[in-house]
This record gives sequence, C-alpha cells and structure tokens, in this order.
Amino acid sequence: MSDILDKVIGITDRLNNQLIWRFARTRRPIRTDRPIVSFTFDDVPDTAWTNGAAILEKYGARGTFYIAGGLEGRIEPDRRLISADGCRDLFTRGHEIGCHTFSHRKVASLSNGSFASDLDRNGAFLTQAGISRRPTNFAFPYNAASPRLRPVLRKRYATCRAAGEAINRDSVDPWMLKAVEIRQPEDHALGLTRWIDDLAVNPGWLIFFTHDITSAPTPYGCRPETLERLVSHAIESQCDILPICEALNRFGWKEARP
Ligand SMILES: [Zn+2]
Repeated sequence: MSDILDKVIGITDRLNNQLIWRFARTRRPIRTDRPIVSFTFDDVPDTAWTNGAAILEKYGARGTFYIAGGLEGRIEPDRRLISADGCRDLFTRGHEIGCHTFSHRKVASLSNGSFASDLDRNGAFLTQAGISRRPTNFAFPYNAASPRLRPVLRKRYATCRAAGEAINRDSVDPWMLKAVEIRQPEDHALGLTRWIDDLAVNPGWLIFFTHDITSAPTPYGCRPETLERLVSHAIESQCDILPICEALNRFGWKEARP
C-alpha cells in the first residue's frame, strides 16, 4: 500500500514541477557569452563541507550549500550532516549559504503559513550560526516544488532550484531553475563531463547538485576524485565556476528581492 502511495506522491511531485516549467511566465534572460557552471550541495552532509568545498577551493572556485537547519548534526546510517560551526566555516571561506527549508519536508505538504514559518526558522538558525548574509537562494527538498507556494518563495528568494536534468539557457524561470544531479553509480557521475562539453559549445548556465563527497558515497553523492574531475574539466573547458548568487550578478538579475 505504501508503495502505491509513494508512486502517487511521486507522480504529483513531477506534475507540480512540470506545471511550473510549462506555464510560469516569470522568465528572465540568461545573457552570457561564457559558459557558467555552479556546483551546489543539498542538506548538507559534512563530507560536502570537508571534501567538496576544498576541491572547489583548490581551483579557486566557490559553491552554494543549501542548508536545512533541522538536519544539523544529524547522524544517519550512511552520513553525518553538517554542524552550525561547519556552516559558518563554509561562509567565512567565501561559499554561499542557501536555504533548503528548516524541516526538510516536501514543501507541498505544508500550508502557506507553516511554510513561511519554516523558512523563518531556517533563517534564524543560519543567523544564530553566525552567517551574516541572509540566504537569497533556495533549493526544494527532494526537488519537489509547489505552484501554490511560489508567491511565498518569490517574496523571499532571488531563485529556487529543482532538478530537471537540463542546462538553463535563453530565458528561464528564476524560481524553478533546472539542475543536473551528480549521483551514483560513479561511472555515471564521471560521464557528466558531457554536460560541460555541451555547455562549452553553447554557453548557458549549468547547475550541478549533489550531496556527500566521500570514498564510500551514498547513492546521492560521489567520490572526491569524481567531483574533482568535473571541476577540473569545467576549468579546462574555459567555464566560469560561480556560486548561484554570483551567477545572478553576471546575468544582471536583481540578486535579492527586498
Ligand atoms: Zn535535501
């Protein structure tokens, strides 16, 4: 029974995302002669902080880390989530801290009021952690959006990121950016260099997202050498690697709403 329910919920999530991608009228142009790549990390496992951030920095780049305060320090069977100190460390090293809700629940399961409260709670968590810059970019837990909640998000964030397995090109909806997942198996993750090759020929904005970066990754992460291969390939392909907030400046978008 729960399998059937999961399938129905999965179909509903996909339908919600497709409705937004198909019908959203809030489009903004991606003006760039340069191929832009953003590396983003969701949740965030502590290995994205210890290994992932260091790999980006080795190439002079920075990433965007979408934090869900409710996961702080949580120990799961196959990963440990970042601490508040870890969040502050990322921030002081020049990485962007984005919002991933506090509760890490699917947003469609929340009322408008409880969703807004949840976002406030995450903002308070990040302030408490010592992050002085209000998060201006958001990623959907489970990449599952909700047309109903778009007004709440548009008031607070410059962008929202889902999945979608595509490069953002021409004009896009800022509150439903597409991204390509770096995940297992490792061969698949290594093969993602093809997206960078595509981008180098036809510039746009390629956003990667992943989770843990460790020698024994969960299905939703990759090994450090694989992330490094993607980062170095982007550099060799003359891509600019930018956190989300800096990519927006490059496109001339208004970075944060008042
Ligand atoms: Zn997540």
